[in-house]
Amino acid sequence: MRNKHPGTCYRCNLRVEVGQGHFERHAGGWRTQHADCAIKARQSKQEQQSK
Ligand SMILES: [Zn+2]
Repeated sequence: MRNKHPGTCYRCNLRVEVGQGHFERHAGGWRTQHADCAIKARQSKQEQQSK
């Protein structure tokens, strides 16, 4: 879901402003990533799976 609070992207370590990324449940807490980083990660994962 879209982040309602600013945070730090766990993929690129840059600031995520409200609405620019997603919150995820992780290890009993929350982590934030950019929507763009999530898309890139998904694409690279698909590339690995297709090999
Ligand atoms: Zn990011």
